[in-house]
Amino acid sequence: MDKTDVLIIGGGAVGVCAAYYLREAGYGVTLVERGKIGSGASHGNMGLIVPSHSVPLAAPGVPVRGLKWMFNPDSPFYIKPRLDPSLIRWLWEFWKASSEGRMRRAIPLIRDMSLQSLSLFDELDGLDGVDFDYHQRGVLAVYRTKEGLAEGEEERQLLSSYGLEIDELTSDGVAEALPGLELNALGGLHFRQDAHLTPGKFVRSLADHAVRRGVIVRTGSEVTGFTKDKGRIAAVHTTQGDIAAGEVVLTAGSWSPALGIVAGISLPIQPAKGYSVTMRRPAEWPELPIMLAESRVAVTPMGDTLRIGGTLELAGMDLSINRRRVAAILHALPRYLPSFDIDALEIVETWCGLRPCTPDGLPFLGRAPGVPNLIVAAGHAMIGVSLGPVTGKLVSQIVAEDPPGIDIDLLAVDRFAR
Ligand SMILES: Cc1cc2nc3c(=O)[nH]c(=O)nc-3n(C[C@H](O)[C@H](O)[C@H](O)COP(=O)(O)OP(=O)(O)OC[C@H]3O[C@@H](n4cnc5c(N)ncnc54)[C@H](O)[C@@H]3O)c2cc1C
Repeated sequence: MDKTDVLIIGGGAVGVCAAYYLREAGYGVTLVERGKIGSGASHGNMGLIVPSHSVPLAAPGVPVRGLKWMFNPDSPFYIKPRLDPSLIRWLWEFWKASSEGRMRRAIPLIRDMSLQSLSLFDELDGLDGVDFDYHQRGVLAVYRTKEGLAEGEEERQLLSSYGLEIDELTSDGVAEALPGLELNALGGLHFRQDAHLTPGKFVRSLADHAVRRGVIVRTGSEVTGFTKDKGRIAAVHTTQGDIAAGEVVLTAGSWSPALGIVAGISLPIQPAKGYSVTMRRPAEWPELPIMLAESRVAVTPMGDTLRIGGTLELAGMDLSINRRRVAAILHALPRYLPSFDIDALEIVETWCGLRPCTPDGLPFLGRAPGVPNLIVAAGHAMIGVSLGPVTGKLVSQIVAEDPPGIDIDLLAVDRFAR
């Protein structure tokens, strides 16, 4: 049987970052991925590195807004009605977590993790042979309605009170920030600390680098089960044979709950589907991502492509592409950019992915209760690329039994079981 110090399950942003930092810390690392690197949510997402998203998904007002949107098939949010006990439990926990107090406890932690990730991205960007079109120029949210602007102002005040750097822009300011584009906007917010990258390139080039540093990556290899000995995982079964591991790290995104059950732990994570359409980038498109705020649609320049994406659908483990929702995303663009001819752009890829969402909007990070050599790093929802590097670094500190650089008590794996 093959042996390794640490076996990582899942080759998305979180797994690849964990592999890199564990190897840097001197461990023998094997990463097992059932598809290709990035074949989960980490390839076609919007590539935004966002301290500006420090407010968790579970926040006051969100459940009520969600309920209103639920009945509109073109809205940015949808729950497929079904009598699934895990979904019902998740919604109940989500409702409870959407309080002012819990939101305010979560914000500084997400902010600190995001800011630490930003510094780590700077380091990763400088690694030999690692290139992922990284730019730190901020993200510009544009608003075309008074209600949208008022909502944005509330968000600005909240995030600014936590020290995040945000500039308010008039419509002229927006036009100046986006030369070459004609915008229909009343104003905007420039989240100055944000950054962007091409996420597929990020995971693939960092994985290749990790392999050059000695990590073993087994793609096309699915984890199917575990052999346990006195509560610990003694061996991991894969479709390419068993592997004995000192420590096992579960970074399988939305697939983590199913593997958790096999390992004997419960992980309330719901997959939230989102879509993106990648097009050839028009020559005049500036190097600045835009959030079309009222539509909850993002537009990110990525090298010679432009990616448009959004929507959040709680529809189970379903990777089918709903054309109506994709069309709703694309239709948001001319509302903000009236003279922009989206039909003239060549489509490179239409994609969907599953964001792994916990009920309180915080990931699970830490040792699993009752399985001492299993570490869970999953449930990063809409910010798994943003938080990938800091999560990877924290995983390496947990394995080494070093004090984590950040207090991660709020991320305890058993917090919904207590
Ligand atoms: C439309 C959209 C836009 C988004 N935009 C952003 C953004 O701008 N910024 C941001 O930070 N985040 C964004 N996200 C969220 C981000 O994509 C996710 O949070 C992140 O990719 C999760 O990474 P992960 O490594 O946890 O999971 P994944 O990337 O899903 O990786 C899990 C991996 O585990 C593998 N796996 C599963 N089961 C097994 C098994 N049994 N054996 C072996 N391997 C297995 C899967 O094949 C997969 O590759 C977006 C998501 C969507 C859908």
